[in-house]
Amino acid sequence: MQNRDKLYINGQWVTPSGKGKIDVINASTEEVMAAIPDGDENDAAAAVAAARNAFDRWSATAPADRAGFLKKIQEGLKARSDELARIIAGEVGMPLKLSAMIQVGSPITNFGIYAKLATAFQWQEKTGNSVVVREPVGVVACITPWNYPLHQIAAKVAAALAAGCTVVLKPSEVAPLNAFVLAEVIDAAGLPAGVFNLVTGTGPVIGEALVRHPDVDMVSFTGSTRAGKRISEVAAATVKRVALELGGKSASVILEDADLAAAVKGTVNACFLNSGQTCSAHTRMLVPESRYEEAAKVAVEVAKGFTVGDPFGGSAKLGPLISEAQRERVRGYIRKGIEEGAELLAGGPDAPQGLERGYYVQPTIFGKVKPDSTIAQEEIFGPVLSIITYRDEDEAVSIANGTLYGLAGGVWASSDERAMQVARRLRTGQVDINGGAFNLGAPFGGYKQSGHGREMGAYGLEEFLEYKSLQFRP
Ligand code: NAD
Repeated sequence: MQNRDKLYINGQWVTPSGKGKIDVINASTEEVMAAIPDGDENDAAAAVAAARNAFDRWSATAPADRAGFLKKIQEGLKARSDELARIIAGEVGMPLKLSAMIQVGSPITNFGIYAKLATAFQWQEKTGNSVVVREPVGVVACITPWNYPLHQIAAKVAAALAAGCTVVLKPSEVAPLNAFVLAEVIDAAGLPAGVFNLVTGTGPVIGEALVRHPDVDMVSFTGSTRAGKRISEVAAATVKRVALELGGKSASVILEDADLAAAVKGTVNACFLNSGQTCSAHTRMLVPESRYEEAAKVAVEVAKGFTVGDPFGGSAKLGPLISEAQRERVRGYIRKGIEEGAELLAGGPDAPQGLERGYYVQPTIFGKVKPDSTIAQEEIFGPVLSIITYRDEDEAVSIANGTLYGLAGGVWASSDERAMQVARRLRTGQVDINGGAFNLGAPFGGYKQSGHGREMGAYGLEEFLEYKSLQFRP
């Protein structure tokens, strides 16, 4: 992989002001894949100035023309989809086939969705003696994490461009290579200079410089609750709009009358996808006390099917975790679970057999986990499932709602109607009904400390818009 030593600012690949470099590590081989610029405040300022200069013209472009650019970007990504899947399988570690389908397939679809929405959206409406027009919020800093890197970038960038905003993207420094490909695709699509800019570096330096900058009108952030809190504080000084997509500790509630085997299988899958590095992962499985033994047995059987191994090898369902630090963190949580007295039913803190190199962790299941224990409260971001028992529906709901987070969840019951009754009691932004699947057109975001604001579809577009009322004589 070639080194990436330039940033994309004002329609050009420019030499950064920041002189440092950050190595990008292949999660399965621990080898350096490439180095990227460790950008500084000057790089942030140059990118913001370019986005500011480009804003007036871009925001006045007809939505149909913006749609045309988004379509071109979608085509460009499609043409490079194999390369992108290999890059993401390397930097994130998700098995290649899954990377192609989820990590690359979803952003390609999303650029198409926003191309359609740009033209279909109702940009103005009449109410009484007013016409209410929707206008882009301005210059947006998009700050993204590493777990579904291009998906999270597309959710922000495609929506912001469709809205008529100009963008400075600061991707995760841990999985940034896919963002360089996106910048090349955008350049080839002929987007006017300054409408999209790419800077790289660390959160506390270049990330915070963007959040602090008075010419940035909005920060759209996806990442940890810890960084989200810091960003809120820094953004308050300039009263910026902030959208936060943060962490989660989602519960899958399996009701007494559910098809237990299907529910347990669905929950384990929803926990282990991407080695548990999914913000909406169903990491707590709530089962009726009377069905605990049965549920535990099925969960252990299902876990055995999760072969861990080389993301490029073809047969692995789970690849490594993203980094050594993340692997150590997850192993620490597994040790903590044992210390706190949970029953270790599968996996454990040691490396999976034969996988000493690469950041691998065994898929792990704990039984009889206390709802207030560390592993049931904190976001682990690894393949670790906690099985928790409950006595009745009220207790199940109270356990499910009993964390700081409120991102996602699931309910399994004998009918969708029954599951919906419980789903309505969960304080989370989305709930999968009997194994329901993620929908790129439906709003995605959190309650409580999982953040605020929504992404995806028309709801995601709205995030980047202002209201303006034009009042006429009554
Ligand atoms: P992170 O918070 O460490 O970093 C996310 C991004 O923020 C990176 O680009 C980082 O450089 C930047 N950043 C960090 N500190 C910053 C600061 N002070 N100012 C400005 N920018 C800063 O998160 P991560 O480890 O990359 O991702 C994992 C986390 O993201 C998990 O907590 C996960 O739940 C969350 N996540 C949430 C969603 C969602 O939609 N709710 C989706 C994916 C991941």
